[in-house]
Amino acid sequence: MVIKLSDAVAQKIVELIHKQSGFDVIVCDNTGTIIADSEQVRIGQKHKGSYQILTSDKDSAVITAQEAEESKGRVKEGVSIAIEAEGAKIGTFGIAGPLEVVPPVARIAAGMIIMMLRDEELKDFIRNQVRVLGTSVDQAANGEFDIVFELLKNTTESITFENGNCPEIYKLIDKMSNLAFKDTLTGTYNRRYIDQKLPVDIISTSLSEQSLSIIIADIDFFKNVNDTHGHVAGDHTLKAVADILSGCIQRESDWISRYGGEEFLICLPGAGLKRAVEIAEHMRSSVENSEIVYGECSIKITASLGVCSIKPSSRAPRINAEKLIECADNKLYVAKHKGRNRVEA
Ligand code: GH3
Ligand code: MG
Ligand code: MG
Repeated sequence: MVIKLSDAVAQKIVELIHKQSGFDVIVCDNTGTIIADSEQVRIGQKHKGSYQILTSDKDSAVITAQEAEESKGRVKEGVSIAIEAEGAKIGTFGIAGPLEVVPPVARIAAGMIIMMLRDEELKDFIRNQVRVLGTSVDQAANGEFDIVFELLKNTTESITFENGNCPEIYKLIDKMSNLAFKDTLTGTYNRRYIDQKLPVDIISTSLSEQSLSIIIADIDFFKNVNDTHGHVAGDHTLKAVADILSGCIQRESDWISRYGGEEFLICLPGAGLKRAVEIAEHMRSSVENSEIVYGECSIKITASLGVCSIKPSSRAPRINAEKLIECADNKLYVAKHKGRNRVEA
C-alpha cells in the first residue's frame, strides 16, 4: 500500500525548510494542489509545475531566473520535484531560490517527507495496537484472562517485530500484569501467580540442583483486629504486614504472595531449610516488634509461620507445588497449635 501525503507532515516540512533556508517552499498533493505553503497564501490552488510532474514521466520541473524575469513576477526561479514512495508519485515539493542552491535542498526535503510519513504510519500502527491492548486491559479487569493473554501475545509479538520501542505498550503490559498477578490490597502477588510461578520455580531449581523453600505466614487472631478496630483497620494491618514480610526477603528470585485472607506464601528458590527458617524467624520477630498505627489506634499483632523445603535433586522433583504447600500448611497448623507467634519447620 502506498503511503498518503498528509497535510500535517507537509506543513511541518515546509516550516522547517523555510525557517532553515529562508526560501519559499510549497508541497502539493497527488493532484497538484498546494497543501502547504510557507507564505500561507496559495493553499488550495493548483500548481502548474507540480501538475506537469504528476501527469508525465518528468520527476522535476525547473523555472530558470530568465523565465522568472520574463514572467514579471508571476513565477519565481526554483525547482519542483516529485515526492515518491514505492515508485508512485504521491505529491511534489517546490522551492523558490537560485538554481545553483535549491535542487539538493528539495531532494533532502522530499526524502524527509517520506521518512516522516513512514514514522507517522508506524506510530498509527502502534497507536492502534495500544488501543487493542487497552481493550485487553479492560477485559483483564473483568477476569477474561485467556482472551487477554492471547491478545497480549499477538500484540507484543507484532510490536516487537515492527518496533521495539514504544513506552505506552510497556506501561500497558505492566498495568496488565499487575491486574492479572497482583493482589490489589497488599500489592503482593496473588493466587493466580502462585499457581503459575511455583511449579515453574520447583522445576527450574530442581534442574539446576538447588533447594527451594516456601514459608506460609498467617496472622494470629486476626479476626480480633477486625472485631476490635473495624474492617478498614484490618485492611490497613494486612497491608502493613505484607510490607514487613516483603522487607525480609532480599533475593531477586524470592517472591511473596497473598495466599488467602490473612495468609501469605513466600517462595525462596535456592534457599535450603536452614536459610528459610532464618528468614521465617526474621519475619516473625519483625511482625512481633512492629507497631501498626491506624488513626488513633496502635495495633499489635503476631504471626505464625510454617516452612517446607525441597532438597536439591537432579531427578525430576518428587514433590509438586500442591504437596509443598500442604506440607508448609501442616507446619503452620503445628505452630498455631503450639501457641502461635512461632516458626515450625
Ligand atoms: P488464627 O490465629 O487461628 O489464624 O486466628 P485468626 O483470627 O487469624 O483466623 P480466622 O481464620 O478465624 O480469621 C481470619 C480473619 O481474617 C477473618 C476474616 O474476616 C479476616 N480477613 C480475611 N481477609 C481479609 C481482608 O481482606 N481484610 C480484612 N480486614 N480482614 C480479612
Ligand atoms: Mg490467622
Ligand atoms: Mg488464616
